[in-house]
Amino acid sequence: LPADATEPAAALLECARKIRGRGWCDGTSGNFSVTLTRAPLRLLITPTGVDKAELEAQDLLVLDERVLATGAGQAPSAEAPLHVALALRAGAGAVLHTHSVWNTLLGEHFRQRGGFVLSGYEMLKGLDGVRSHREEVFVPVVENTQDMPALAAEVERLLGERPALRGFLIAGHGLYTWGRGLVEAHRHVEIFEFLFQLAGRRIPLRPFSGTA
Ligand SMILES: [Zn+2]
Repeated sequence: LPADATEPAAALLECARKIRGRGWCDGTSGNFSVTLTRAPLRLLITPTGVDKAELEAQDLLVLDERVLATGAGQAPSAEAPLHVALALRAGAGAVLHTHSVWNTLLGEHFRQRGGFVLSGYEMLKGLDGVRSHREEVFVPVVENTQDMPALAAEVERLLGERPALRGFLIAGHGLYTWGRGLVEAHRHVEIFEFLFQLAGRRIPLRPFSGTA
């Protein structure tokens, strides 16, 4: 890794282990990045297919805007274009993508409505810029797809509509959130996952019919 990635790498590994410990990126799911430089844009990002509990600094990759891997034999996540889009369009200093039970459930539940509002919870104030539990925080839900450039374009459209956006869900898939730096992005994961559990527990269970 380049010299300017040493400290960000240590912070990123610690953050990834904490998130893994909460059960928010089981298996080898999820991916995390930190912006190293903006001109030119360079991101430090987790590789695909590695358990976040086993991750070491040498596994991390440095990407530029064209999503070129410069790491040692590892491939970046297929979702790397989303990290680039968020660094460029949302000014993100760190982007965290989790696959929790609750964010997967809510994304699927609110897929057809295109999103849902979180309001009335004190914990909302943990999101950057939210001053009161009464504020309404809209969480958009976008369709899941394996076409990452299309998803990145959709995310750019969302950010154009909602410049103050702090996170969104991909239906049946997971959460993307970010912050000016890794500390803020990590706090946003914790706040969103907390609020998703509250929102998810309010969805009535469907009567048992033999299939989930
Ligand atoms: Zn994912």
